[in-house]
Amino acid sequence: MSKLAEQTISEISTLLNSREISSAELTQLSLDRIEKYDPKVGAYLHIDHDGAKKQAQESDTRRASNNSKGPLDGIPIALKDIFLTDDLPTTCASKILENFIAPYDATVVKKLKNAGAVILGKLNMDEFAMGSSNEHSAFKPVHNPWNLDCVAGGSSGGSAASVAAGLCYGALGTDTGGSIRQPSSFNGIVGLKPTYGRISRYGVIAFASSLDQVGPMTKSVRDAAILLNVLAGHDPCDSTSADVEVPDYTDRLDNKLGPIKIGIPKEYFIKELDSEIAAAVQEAIELYKNMGCEIVDISLPHTRYAIATYYLIATAEASSNLARYDGVRYGTRHDPNQGLIEMYNETRGKGFGLEVKRRIMLGTYALSAGYYDAYYAKAQCVRTLIRQDFQKAFEKVDIILTPTSPNVAFKFGEHQADPIQMYLADIFTVSCNLAGLPGISVPCGFNQEGLPMGLQLLGPVWAEDKVLQCANAFERETNYQQRRPHEL
Ligand code: GLN
Repeated sequence: MSKLAEQTISEISTLLNSREISSAELTQLSLDRIEKYDPKVGAYLHIDHDGAKKQAQESDTRRASNNSKGPLDGIPIALKDIFLTDDLPTTCASKILENFIAPYDATVVKKLKNAGAVILGKLNMDEFAMGSSNEHSAFKPVHNPWNLDCVAGGSSGGSAASVAAGLCYGALGTDTGGSIRQPSSFNGIVGLKPTYGRISRYGVIAFASSLDQVGPMTKSVRDAAILLNVLAGHDPCDSTSADVEVPDYTDRLDNKLGPIKIGIPKEYFIKELDSEIAAAVQEAIELYKNMGCEIVDISLPHTRYAIATYYLIATAEASSNLARYDGVRYGTRHDPNQGLIEMYNETRGKGFGLEVKRRIMLGTYALSAGYYDAYYAKAQCVRTLIRQDFQKAFEKVDIILTPTSPNVAFKFGEHQADPIQMYLADIFTVSCNLAGLPGISVPCGFNQEGLPMGLQLLGPVWAEDKVLQCANAFERETNYQQRRPHEL
């Protein structure tokens, strides 16, 4: 990979400031790379050549007159196609939103634009963010840049693959049950899911509103902190965004870790965990020990119910959220001219893919009269128990360390036949969403086939600074994030 394409946001920002490169050149480089490599990767759904070049010119003009807006000014960034943009289509990788252009920008998109970021385009994903492999995109699959025969993970697979392949310098993803962290681990990049409420969800297409959270996906921990600085904060347009103080996340990133306590939950070291990942995580634990951290064995006893709880709550919320796609107000309409119900049936029958329909049916069932108490209400109770597990654990430890995923990127089709197998692989990521906690995935090595593996660090609510600091200390001691995939 060319030296420039390998650089991180913070490195590029230095080059821009010293005028060694212009944003226009950088943006052209990204667009050229997309043209050359994306046909193989499939990360982009929409590329905004003209818009990106114009934004880059504007950024260069600002810099020339010493009016730079900060570290993101002029940096080519891309967005998962779940974020509303008023100048580009937003499809959520679904036929039901094909060609849909939103009337406004999501708050996070506005924030990126205000910070001077150059928006290259919109990235592929699993339809409505439902999936763990990106095989559920209605348009095309995403190929893993480390091995094109393997999936990129999901649902933010386009975001992860584009960062890994050097097709943008950072991307936004969303994480409802692992969709930032799992694809990040599959692609050897850093992915942060902040605390629920840390970043506005206004203008982010809803999957499961009590679980969804926006986050950065980048080559380095510092880059994730730079993006979080721009994205975090209260938004009057999103009542679930919290009005709490936002620290500067880059400030104390390089501080020595100090004698912090890191908890290792025994429930996360199960027989389904790939042995090479288990060994890499063990090495990470040793590394933290050598840095002076105290390693504490802990238990999160309700972990075994996490998948069932997540797949009840997420599908229930999805069935309600997706009711709005009825062919009347948004996107595509299929009308056989036989009446309203027939129009709904045709529109939703043709517009949604199989996985989305499966989730709507599961969720509608869990919410229906007679089953609500047995399924949805019960799941809410278990969710509280899972949250309490973490509260108790964080009385004893500062950070919890686990593998991000029980497996590395798998081959296309491997989990297609049995959706339950695909759901079970979310075992290490969903609890964090159920409890509303911040979590990060950082590269922790490569298996024998050269596929990346990921380490997950979880913190108490609002402790993104701690999580980032801990991840940064690990990154400093290792060089996994410097390895890039061979040119495709
Ligand atoms: N893989 C999980 C699911 O399919 C998580 C998806 C997500 O976080 N958006 O629901």
